[in-house]
Amino acid sequence: MSSEVQKVVIIGSGPAGWTAALYAARAALDPVVYVGVPKQDPGPVLPGGQLMLTTDVENYPGFPDGVTGPDMMAKFQQQAERFGAKVVGEDIVEVDLHSNPKVLKTNKGEEIHAHAVIISTGATANWLGLENEMRLATSGGGVSACAVCDGALPAFRDQPLAVVGGGDTAMEEATYLTKFASEVYVIHRRDELRASKVMQERYLSQPNAKVVWNKTVVDVLGDEKITGVKLEDTVTGEHSELAVKGLFIAIGHTPATKFLRESGLEFDDAGYIDLKSRASHTNIDGVFAAGDVADAEYRQAVTAAGMGCAAALDAERWLGSKGLH
Ligand code: NAP
Repeated sequence: MSSEVQKVVIIGSGPAGWTAALYAARAALDPVVYVGVPKQDPGPVLPGGQLMLTTDVENYPGFPDGVTGPDMMAKFQQQAERFGAKVVGEDIVEVDLHSNPKVLKTNKGEEIHAHAVIISTGATANWLGLENEMRLATSGGGVSACAVCDGALPAFRDQPLAVVGGGDTAMEEATYLTKFASEVYVIHRRDELRASKVMQERYLSQPNAKVVWNKTVVDVLGDEKITGVKLEDTVTGEHSELAVKGLFIAIGHTPATKFLRESGLEFDDAGYIDLKSRASHTNIDGVFAAGDVADAEYRQAVTAAGMGCAAALDAERWLGSKGLH
């Protein structure tokens, strides 16, 4: 593959990457998708992205009975492959996006040349980094980094649930959970929330909303299912326990852009790829971005898929304008 120049290479294999691949394949652009390799960073990162760590997806249109995240990503992949998308199980670890064609280096040291590049490497939820947190998150034991994805599951109905974090995401997730839970505890490490006033008020106005101030979670309790959390007071150092049946970590996300640091791409203050207007164009000609890697705001499978579609259409038009398609 290294000697040919690809029309379009897609980096990343979540909803954005597969949708970009589907559209690019149907436009006869012969897309090549670098799906990445499984890793711990510090939580699990899998080809297929964050949906590979979710159980039931109930909010993706077209699946009235729900679908598991891994099943959905397998279907996305099959559909893209049906139209000829090529799939490579490697990571892109280095890029030169200013050369013409662009040069991408894989984790195996191979150099790939491409006219257009679509970056859809997603973002990973930040985790506390506790052993039992990761164990129960990967086994479906009631620990999750996405309340909107998992919070409505029957196991959480009318149960005490906790959210860790004090930002807008924590407020949004906690407010969402108040609809299902018996009570929701926001566990925050300080005595003041970081979240905007309006988001704080929306949460605090719910009758079953509580805040546990000045506490960090130092352990997650339970064998197969979470039974509670062990807390440490950030002022006194005292330890206590709180019984909960679900734990949602909402301490921010990190976009997967490490390999792009020297690329010349522009990022926003939080490290997400900065897109120009509503389109998927970045500041570099022929480089497009889609999905969570460029979206701190919505971060939904369906919005990522929409962005992937836009990136493929933008790439197709760009290739046409350069006489490369
Ligand atoms: P964030 O604003 O960075 O807040 C992260 C929160 O997690 C902070 O309260 C932080 O505590 C806490 N935290 C970080 N690391 C921690 C750790 N190791 N242990 C315990 N707590 C920890 O992230 P975000 O809430 O995901 O928001 C990201 C951006 O998206 C923000 O700009 C936000 O406004 C925006 N957003 C907007 C909306 C909306 O408007 N609808 C919804 C969601 C997000 P400290 O406060 O002590 O640092």
